[in-house]
Amino acid sequence: MKVTQQLFVTLKEEPADAEVRSHALMARAGFLHKLAAGQYTYGPMLLRVLKKIEAIVREEHEAAGCQELLMPALQPRELWDSSGRWDRYVADGILFHFTDRKGSEVCLGPTHEEVITTFVKRFVKSYKQLPLILYQIQTKFRDEIRPRFGLMRGREFIMKDAYSFDASEEAMKASYDVMRGVYYRIFERSGLRFTPVQADAGAIGGSGSEEFMVDADTGEDAIAVCRATGYAANVEKAVSRISAAPATPEKVGIHKEPTPGAKTCEALLELFPQLPIERLLKTVLYEATTEEGTSVVAVMARGDREINEVKLLNHMNALDVQLASPETVKRVTGAEVGFAGPIGLAEEVRLLADSSVEGVDGFLCGGNETDTHYLDVWFGRDLEQPETLDLGLVQAGDLVAEGEGEIEITRGIEVGHIFQLGTKYSSAMDAKFAPEQGPTEPYWMGCYGIGVSRVAASAIEQNHDDAGMIWPIPIAPYTVMIVQMRAGDEAQDALAQEVHDNLEAAGIDVLWDDRKKVSPGVKFKDADLVGVPLRIVVGRDATDRKVEWNSRSEEGSEVMDVDAALEKVKQAVTEATAR
Ligand code: ATP
Ligand code: MG
Repeated sequence: MKVTQQLFVTLKEEPADAEVRSHALMARAGFLHKLAAGQYTYGPMLLRVLKKIEAIVREEHEAAGCQELLMPALQPRELWDSSGRWDRYVADGILFHFTDRKGSEVCLGPTHEEVITTFVKRFVKSYKQLPLILYQIQTKFRDEIRPRFGLMRGREFIMKDAYSFDASEEAMKASYDVMRGVYYRIFERSGLRFTPVQADAGAIGGSGSEEFMVDADTGEDAIAVCRATGYAANVEKAVSRISAAPATPEKVGIHKEPTPGAKTCEALLELFPQLPIERLLKTVLYEATTEEGTSVVAVMARGDREINEVKLLNHMNALDVQLASPETVKRVTGAEVGFAGPIGLAEEVRLLADSSVEGVDGFLCGGNETDTHYLDVWFGRDLEQPETLDLGLVQAGDLVAEGEGEIEITRGIEVGHIFQLGTKYSSAMDAKFAPEQGPTEPYWMGCYGIGVSRVAASAIEQNHDDAGMIWPIPIAPYTVMIVQMRAGDEAQDALAQEVHDNLEAAGIDVLWDDRKKVSPGVKFKDADLVGVPLRIVVGRDATDRKVEWNSRSEEGSEVMDVDAALEKVKQAVTEATAR
């Protein structure tokens, strides 16, 4: 393909709202254009990338025996009521929903568990038709709170979603393992560096789930990893062991201390320099919304620990948890924010504690009175130890829960998420099959998502430099770029044409910069920006059948015979696709 036959425009300016490199570079290179928040036109170059990712996704799914189908994006409310998810998704605000001309409520699908379950329910009646894994590649719609980071978090984005149906729990786990293998191969073949991690199942639900994280400092997700044991989990889900609090002091009586304006642990430590931070117990107030309504919950934790709101939400079986408003804090503690404690809270408050408080005694805690804390408080003597459970956020330096090793926190971009759903949807939707013996049973399900458009963005987050994008060969818009220094020069025209035809004949896609009135400097700048991974420069030495060869990811270039350069290209392609 010649550049002059393409819509090929590069811009000097980055969009003002581009917060991450992948967005800025893709916008400058004409790969995408923002229509509205979280909605992008995918230009021809980007579409080539997406099609390559989709091809890898399809090949690996087909190889594992999955079948492709296509479901409607527009879905009726009744379907979502039948699984019980409509209210939660509406409350979350994630669902795009509206009323059609007949007055029926509909939504634009953020995910397709309900649609696939009604489809399979209609056609799969017997255990003999199982196992079954179906998938589609389709645009999904989510009214994200903060659509940003370009393709990373769209309100409209391309997802591959697959669903497995099995006759038993063991069979579901076997399908899950098959899909885990499919995911490994897809991300490996795409040329990405990634880490699979244990994950929270969120609103999708189910019993077990893992996320595939592309390693990138700009990732929105924090991951707890232990190099010694291989443990890796999203911090939303991660568990750890923490060091014990220092030995407790002698028992002295509980008493109030004036703590004017001391609303944070730091301020309190300044007032009580002799107190180790572990003996300062904070009490954080939340408003939790469940199907029954909103209630206030107070969570205690050691001063050096943070509370994991995802664990709290799961424990409360809540739709949402938020820090309590100052008005609520005042109502249930009688004090301003910053002085809440476990003693003397309003009746309506449910008190929980993170397991970090276990064994801590003689501590400082809020007095439920503005500018006041209690000191030398003992569980058992001054108050009952509240229900304790793991509600803590794992921190760097914690000990791994099983085995020996330390936790580090790294960052990643979630490109895939796989779930064991159990019978959550099939039971709710009465979707059953006849087993070999006995009455009908609900299918055992799994679901498996890949953010196809997010994969493209994450590849660039992981592979770029100051000059532009660096596409991994397997998903690059073009594999080779021919930069012709002087288009119109007879020897150069002929040699560039030869390189072009030779590579196309070998099934390698090539973009040929044949622009006439553009300087070599601009051509090199554009080639760097667009990030085609392999480059052949056809210039002055064309008369000697010599070209310059270089790889976008490596410094420097080499002048060589054209046949040797073609050989280099073919070798690089073979290596990159042999994974
Ligand atoms: P996140 O935690 O990033 O919001 P999620 O856990 O809600 O994502 P899933 O329901 O697991 O997402 O969706 C499957 C996959 O779809 C994700 O692993 C991710 O790659 C992709 N994805 C989800 N939301 C978006 C989005 N707003 N824009 C682009 N890709 C997305
Ligand atoms: Mg997810």
